[in-house]
Amino acid sequence: MADTDLSLIEPFEICSIRPPTENFSLTFRLTRNCGWNRCLFCPVYKQGVKFSRRTMEDVKKDVDRARAIDDLLTERGVCDPYPGTDVYREAAGLIAEINEVRSRSGIEGGTGDRRAAAGGGPSGEGEDSAAWFATWFKDTPTIEDSVYHLVSWRVNGGQTCFIGDSNSLVLNPAFFLEAASYIRQTFPGLARFTIYGRTRSAAEMPLRDLEVFKGAGLDRIHFGVESGCDEVLGFMKKGVTGEQHILGCRKTVDAGISCSVYVMPGLGGTRWSVPHAADTSRVITEAAPDYVRLRTLEVFPGTPLATAVRKGTFTEATEEQIVREIRTLVEEIETETTLVSDSASNLLDVSGRLPGDGPRMLEVIDEYLALSPREKLTFSLASRLQSFVGQYGGLTQEIMHAVMPFVAGDRIDANRASDDEIEGVIRLIRSRLMP
Ligand code: SF4
Repeated sequence: MADTDLSLIEPFEICSIRPPTENFSLTFRLTRNCGWNRCLFCPVYKQGVKFSRRTMEDVKKDVDRARAIDDLLTERGVCDPYPGTDVYREAAGLIAEINEVRSRSGIEGGTGDRRAAAGGGPSGEGEDSAAWFATWFKDTPTIEDSVYHLVSWRVNGGQTCFIGDSNSLVLNPAFFLEAASYIRQTFPGLARFTIYGRTRSAAEMPLRDLEVFKGAGLDRIHFGVESGCDEVLGFMKKGVTGEQHILGCRKTVDAGISCSVYVMPGLGGTRWSVPHAADTSRVITEAAPDYVRLRTLEVFPGTPLATAVRKGTFTEATEEQIVREIRTLVEEIETETTLVSDSASNLLDVSGRLPGDGPRMLEVIDEYLALSPREKLTFSLASRLQSFVGQYGGLTQEIMHAVMPFVAGDRIDANRASDDEIEGVIRLIRSRLMP
């Protein structure tokens, strides 16, 4: 095989924000950012980026660019499965080579930030969560991001594709069909296609349009339901009602597409905690999605919700209230579905198939609820520390510094800390966790 001319390698746009199940998927942007972008709690597209639709020509160009990088990885044997091979180190070498050739040829190409692509953690101590969150956006494509994206896709099976950004149902179905066909033709090994969607879009489109998406190979839509309670949805400016959630999910299932929804415990704050849980249980029961994924509310700095908290128009629910909301969901959802707790934002790992696994899941919840206030605090500290290590692979100096006064020997002894001190550390850790 002839050596590829590295000056011809070009970066392509990737979807920075995608479901955790699509972390290692090949991604293509058919739209950019969110056309709604009004939800008070959502930090995702509040960084000044605007919604836009891409042309078919640009999309196909990106698919071709991804193919060229994939072919180059094959040519260089970067992802060959030899034991002990550090594919990311080899990829780093290749990236340096490409960037050098491009720079010598007078082609622009930033080195980018590999952390999101490679799944790394914060490097700058004291970096606040808003700044860290901003580093996840990859609006400007780079060689580095593009190569790592392909590498992580290949080493994780190379079979899944996510098409973004936030609501691919705004696309003309014929446009989606042409783009998906081109992607499939260019990457014939792809076996699963997924998108994010808004239930309102699904509710308002004819069933036959959703069937075109299905015919294009779409396997699953991830919907941000967040709540089934209309007061909460209204306050949060979600732009959808509980009834539209139900209609959108049902229509998706009728079109033969798998339906996965996100629900956000805590979104009702203290004021709507009870109706939020009850109405969400009813909406999920009627919507009957295949998956319900829990994402506990985190109030991100810089969001309109953070302003509402500051002004006193929204009061965050306590951890105990949030756990009681999840208890209501487990107890009151009356449809067969899989409840998944796959986010570092959640205090408890409550996952299982409903209704069969319900009693086991309730046991986990009730064990927590039976703890004394002090035990709940120390439980929360241990759980949050574990989530942080799980997400970033270790503690940052900032968090080490915060827990240092309570360290005894080689472990953290929470008995040395007051309730306020523990709460402070928990708040710090939660502010650094990504949803
Ligand atoms: S629709 Fe989704 S991406 Fe857009 S603002 Fe709301 S939560 Fe964020």
